[in-house]
Amino acid sequence: MKGDMTAMKQSQIIIDYSVQPAINKLHGSVQVERNQMYEGYLILINGENPIRKATDESMLVPLSSVPHLRVLQEGMLLENTCLQQLVNLLQHCQGLQDIVMVSGFRSMEEQQHIYETSLRENGAEYTASYVALPNQSEHQTGLAIDVGLRRNEIDFIAPSFPSSGVCQAFKKLAADYGFIQRYKEGKEFITNIACEPWHFRYVGYPHAAIMEQHGFCLEEYINFLRKFTYSGEQLCIERDGLKTEIYFVPAEEGLMTTIPLVKCDFYQLSGNNKDGFIITAFHRKGSLHRECFS
Ligand SMILES: [Zn+2]
Repeated sequence: MKGDMTAMKQSQIIIDYSVQPAINKLHGSVQVERNQMYEGYLILINGENPIRKATDESMLVPLSSVPHLRVLQEGMLLENTCLQQLVNLLQHCQGLQDIVMVSGFRSMEEQQHIYETSLRENGAEYTASYVALPNQSEHQTGLAIDVGLRRNEIDFIAPSFPSSGVCQAFKKLAADYGFIQRYKEGKEFITNIACEPWHFRYVGYPHAAIMEQHGFCLEEYINFLRKFTYSGEQLCIERDGLKTEIYFVPAEEGLMTTIPLVKCDFYQLSGNNKDGFIITAFHRKGSLHRECFS
């Protein structure tokens, strides 16, 4: 059925733990705790905004549960939706044979170990460019994956992921499945990380596509979203009969923040790991009472 979420292409479906049905499709509000600001698909992790809340490991799924997925090592884990969408992306770009999963979820201890080993083996300059400090790595969220082109020797820190062939096909389709190349060339002065063609971060639909369209890195996108508010203008996207409104709600001073909700069929809430919350409100075709402005 057209307009039915389940009938849509997998790449555009958002089924995950943070999607909530709206309350009777009316304007309403929800109360969230301050520490919810530190979780969700849009959390910004960098030197200024370290991880403040340990990942809920019950949301992690072993990569070994997916048949035909090539992994560099056993025991790799990723957040559930991130893994599902990664597999959909690999299938679509026909990369299951030739793209290897190099590194997924890392505990704080693992990140510490990787950092110290790289410091010893590669020196300070190289490590500062490519390895995040413990609690500053997106890998600790389960929402980041390093991928490499299959070959005999794969570098764990900096796997080869060229802009050609199947890797290029993966890159081109990544945003459709909610992934961004997190550290791009030309954004080093913002991210403080060298260009990493192999590191992909899951942010979900439609955020990855918007970032790609505007050429934003995550730092820029989180900042861009500040101008969209509940009482002002929302960022409005329409695709395949699904209308989406996005806006930012700053965290209140106290323990709780009241999040006002626009009329919608369902919504997703994510913290930005900085100072507030991002609401992504979805409207199935025919159910939207307002028109998109932008
Ligand atoms: Zn990485």
